[in-house]
Amino acid sequence: NFVSAVVPPDEVGVRFNDIGALEYVKRTLNELVILPMRRPELFSHGNLLRPCKGILLFGPPGTGKTLLAKALATEAGANFISITGSILTSKWFGDAEKLTKALFSFANRLAPVIIFVDEVDSLLGARGGAFEHEATRRMRNEFMAAWDGLRSKDSQRILILGATNRPFDLDDAVIRRLPRRIYVDLPDAANRVKILKIFLAQENINSDFKYDELANATEGYSGSDLKNLCVAAAYRPVPELLEEEQKGGTCGTLPILRPLKLDDFIQAK
Ligand code: ATP
Repeated sequence: NFVSAVVPPDEVGVRFNDIGALEYVKRTLNELVILPMRRPELFSHGNLLRPCKGILLFGPPGTGKTLLAKALATEAGANFISITGSILTSKWFGDAEKLTKALFSFANRLAPVIIFVDEVDSLLGARGGAFEHEATRRMRNEFMAAWDGLRSKDSQRILILGATNRPFDLDDAVIRRLPRRIYVDLPDAANRVKILKIFLAQENINSDFKYDELANATEGYSGSDLKNLCVAAAYRPVPELLEEEQKGGTCGTLPILRPLKLDDFIQAK
């Protein structure tokens, strides 16, 4: 149970189409992971076309790194294993060798597989000098040794995908093992429109709703912030309807929530 999730590709439930914006990231992942996993024969000749062995997604919180990792598993037809750096180092002190062996032999059996290491900085971060816990150091060394062992055997079918909000906390040894680093940026206004359209696709929205006005009012919001805002805005008609019902105004009619308007989002901020 040190692995927080193992999901077969058809059960991950997220596709690239569910992710708004981040076109460059999706294109790059297609080239680096999806094609090599789906068409390994194209990558087995010569020395230049080699599948990527490790990828780092980095960027601010809530920008969709976890979502991308899951969708990547679906698109590549790979099993998805998810582990969290801080859980590994805090809960399992002392058992580093057993733990990493189990994880990697498990991954071997599940290949093609994507091992998503969230908070990779806390598992494989910069060396903590004299204050670093001995067990953390051992865990890191075990993990890297197992990873290196894997890479020579089956890099085409096993990918380590790390994610972090703190790329500067990673040491050189890790950076070297994650040769491709992809920045997952906060969305600009045009990309906020794309993300909002995904969240609001099934909602009852006023016909004169202007997505670009909402995008302009949400400068600096991550995808996750936008999601939270949409949920809060979608709730606003609920108490209004309940109040109407109490007054008897909706008597005999089916309760239908009114369409959402821009002001709901502005008030929900
Ligand atoms: P953290 O660094 O804090 O772990 P993260 O970058 O991994 O965050 P996610 O957990 O992938 O971010 O995103 C949180 C939620 O925000 C997602 O489950 C999704 O609902 C929403 N979200 C974020 N970015 C997008 C996007 N580009 N398109 C659609 N939904 C998004």
